[in-house]
Amino acid sequence: IKHEGGNQYRTCVRDSALEDGEPLFLKERMIREALTMGWFRLYLQPIFRAASPDLEAPELLGAEALIRLEHPELGLVPPDEFIAAAEKTGQIVEIGNWVLEEAAVILCEWRRLGIEERYLSVNASVIQFRDQGILHQLESLLERYPIHPSQLVVEVTENLMLDSKDSLRYQLQAIRRLGVNLSLDDFGTGFSCLSYLHDLPFGILKVDRSFVMNVETSRRDRELARVIVAMGQSLGMQVVVEGVEERGQAEIFQAMGVHAFQGYLFGRPMPQQAFETRFHANADARVSLLKAVRSTP
Ligand code: C2E
Ligand code: MG
Ligand code: MG
Ligand code: MG
Repeated sequence: IKHEGGNQYRTCVRDSALEDGEPLFLKERMIREALTMGWFRLYLQPIFRAASPDLEAPELLGAEALIRLEHPELGLVPPDEFIAAAEKTGQIVEIGNWVLEEAAVILCEWRRLGIEERYLSVNASVIQFRDQGILHQLESLLERYPIHPSQLVVEVTENLMLDSKDSLRYQLQAIRRLGVNLSLDDFGTGFSCLSYLHDLPFGILKVDRSFVMNVETSRRDRELARVIVAMGQSLGMQVVVEGVEERGQAEIFQAMGVHAFQGYLFGRPMPQQAFETRFHANADARVSLLKAVRSTP
């Protein structure tokens, strides 16, 4: 845990920027260039209803937007290689703003396709909660784009909960009042106080992949998973299980009555275009058809 100057916030930023031997200033430069040159991309990973009658053809509920840096020489750089650095340098605020704008554009596109029942989940960093930055940006987005607030979900990791409670609670409640949904990410990996979590307005709880990996083979992991799922359910949250790679894992969580699955078994993060082609192709046809009908004299 790193203390941020005189600020009331504490952040849980790993020292990964230095761990892998690459100095922070090099990452800072790469991020700066990516912001200027427009190298950031949002990949979309599908999220499916767990209670789908046929897990081979599950019902799509929405997607999580996952950022990548498309570097002309390095190729696709994953977020684990630059988010921590961006949090240290403060560039995460600008990245976060870009992510939210881009998400709003995607939701507008879905709306154009007539898809208004699916949600888009974006990740937010603790730094974005400083000076109520994220709250103000969400307000601004909802004024500028014709999107349904309930189609937008903001994911924050459980570690965020270690931060200044009052300001955070105020902002989460204000975001919820805007109609935007809140999701508690990576649940079970932090040290949150349960009684504190319980009165924060999270509608979704995401079970971390680390509880899923060995759920088939380890009885202990299965019991842990069961407790986490039951806790979310009893607090009235929709439980989303992340990192599902095996059919057997899906079946175990399905039996627990979880709400949704996200994982390689069902779909990897993919470029927006690929996502649209795979999941919204019929919607596109519907729009062209409507256009054709409307333009017929
Ligand atoms: P996360 O929010 O917990 O996202 C889930 C991560 O698990 C993603 O990694 C996803 O690709 C990966 N994943 C999903 N299903 C599976 C699976 O079945 N098996 C395995 N092995 N992995 C799976 P990704 O895209 O590399 O993102 C890593 C983390 O980076 C995210 O974890 C999130 O904390 C952060 N991140 C991503 N995009 C953003 C962003 O726009 N802003 C911020 N602040 N953080 C972001
Ligand atoms: Mg997430
Ligand atoms: Mg997660
Ligand atoms: Mg994670």
